[in-house]
Amino acid sequence: MSTSSQPQHQHSNGITNHTSGLNELTRVILDNLLDGVVLIDAKGIIQQFTKPAEKIFGYQAEEVIGLNVSVLMPAHHALAHDTYMDNYHRTGKAKIIGIGRAVEGKRKDGTLFPLDLAVTQIDRDGQRFYIGTIRDTTKQHEDSKRIEFLSNHDALTGLPNREKLIYELDAYLQHTAVCVAAINLDFFNRINTVHGYAEGDTVLCRIASRLHNQVDADCLVARDLGDRFWVVIGLNENSLEAGQVQLKKLLEVIRQPVQTDSSIHYVTGSAGVVVGDSKATALELLSQAEAAVYQAKLEGRDRVSMYEPLMRSKVAEDYEIELALRKGMQKDELETWVQSKVDTNEKVASAEALMRWRHIDEQGQQILISPANFIPIAERLGLIVPMGRAMMNHVAQALSQLQKSTNTAAITIAINVSPRQFLDSNFSQDIRAAFAEHNAPLTNLILEITENLLLKNLQDVYQAMAELSADGVRFSIDDFGTGYSNLKRLQQLPINEIKIDQSFVQEASDSPKMKAILDGILGMSKTLGLETVAEGVERQCQADYLIEHGCQFLQGYLYSRPAPIVEWLEKVQREAAL
Ligand code: C2E
Ligand code: CA
Ligand code: CA
Repeated sequence: MSTSSQPQHQHSNGITNHTSGLNELTRVILDNLLDGVVLIDAKGIIQQFTKPAEKIFGYQAEEVIGLNVSVLMPAHHALAHDTYMDNYHRTGKAKIIGIGRAVEGKRKDGTLFPLDLAVTQIDRDGQRFYIGTIRDTTKQHEDSKRIEFLSNHDALTGLPNREKLIYELDAYLQHTAVCVAAINLDFFNRINTVHGYAEGDTVLCRIASRLHNQVDADCLVARDLGDRFWVVIGLNENSLEAGQVQLKKLLEVIRQPVQTDSSIHYVTGSAGVVVGDSKATALELLSQAEAAVYQAKLEGRDRVSMYEPLMRSKVAEDYEIELALRKGMQKDELETWVQSKVDTNEKVASAEALMRWRHIDEQGQQILISPANFIPIAERLGLIVPMGRAMMNHVAQALSQLQKSTNTAAITIAINVSPRQFLDSNFSQDIRAAFAEHNAPLTNLILEITENLLLKNLQDVYQAMAELSADGVRFSIDDFGTGYSNLKRLQQLPINEIKIDQSFVQEASDSPKMKAILDGILGMSKTLGLETVAEGVERQCQADYLIEHGCQFLQGYLYSRPAPIVEWLEKVQREAAL
């Protein structure tokens, strides 16, 4: 019995070396199995070593035959092996015989590997031998490790995935308060769209590794779907301020240009942050951080926004409005209202169409919702396009009615057009179709656009404006003075009118600065030969000042409030007939 784990050369007399002592058929079978077979004697001395065993262990049979089998085992197994054998010989109780066991093997080069071992004993010529069948399970182990890795990690970046994040975050929460940040890359999809997904993937990987390298070792960076990353900072070691400094640094590393083989990308990130402890669950913190990202995006992106309980209700409120708005559209709850614009003689010259949403709430109560509350959502969802189309039809219908009398035939109606509508490829076609259907003159239509539209793809904007303008449609710049104004650009476009924003009209009397701007706008408009409308005129003194300084049209509660289009039409027709 060998009590040593050190290899010893001993030559056995019982069975000859290698597999040559076996009959030819058995040898061929053994050498062609996938599993290796090693035969040892009762002292643990290797007697036979098949070809597959050579392959598995990296030894030639001649090198190991005569050595103790412990040469094929790591040191700790070798010792245990001797004990097994001892026990078995003493008690006859086989811990190893006949049972497949997962153990570790040692190759000639010293590397260890996992193997499945099954041992049987045979007695021959009064001697006992053991046959070990060995299956190298390295590949299975690697595969299962890989499967385990993939189920916890994102295949693209190698960072932990959402499942792992939730698991780890719950673990953090057991022993420390945490700062959890959701980071979304701003407008990331542009890279996929313009350069293709492979390029997008490259950028994501670069940013993933920057984030990973930037955070301290005790922080966790994970990747969720798309361009969403998560960072968890334990607050045991760090103060909240230190956590915030780390987050700012993360946005900084995102902001560094990403140079790929084919181009350079400038990416920014919006982060939503929440602080939580064991009173919260991982999922609660994730959803709060997400609400804060929403806020960071609304505030202009490329910034960190801290979660506040109200944010969640803002997201919930927007979501509620969205669902109700979709339902409202199906139930025809959107109405067209109209507010007159008068000339300096207080005669109705024109009007502005304004949307109203007559919403019927859960209790069956009717509420009239202002466009300020639903237009931004409708715009974001693209619902503004079909909503605007319905309004165009109402306006075309009213304009065709106004044509019936020479007294009202010159009245124009303005429609507010948001960038999303204006850049819709069917926009001008939809207008022409609505006006043709009602036999209404396009020359009596004004489109109110905002200065921000002029920041969009100018070529497309110019093209659409030129086409509509050729049909006689007129353009007005709404809320003039509040946005970005490039006078040179204004001159290049077919613009007929500017509408001075109500803030200047209402604050000019109290603020010399606002008054100076108002005067400036009126002067400029005169120089450029544009018509001027002042909106939000509520007081006679405002009207007097405007008229005195050359403003041609006025709109505001002083003259009339918005009214449903049918009512407005009847009133205008009635007054014109007097
Ligand atoms: P806006 O184009 O600047 O419209 C003028 C707003 O000022 C209207 O609010 C109008 O009711 C209000 N107003 C008129 N006179 C006075 C006044 O004397 N004093 C005060 N304080 N306010 C006055 P409204 O109807 O709530 O519309 C809000 C905004 O919603 C509009 O601002 C416009 O940007 C948008 N909007 C309304 N209808 C549409 C639409 O059909 N399409 C699009 N894209 N946007 C629309
Ligand atoms: Ca307007
Ligand atoms: Ca306006």
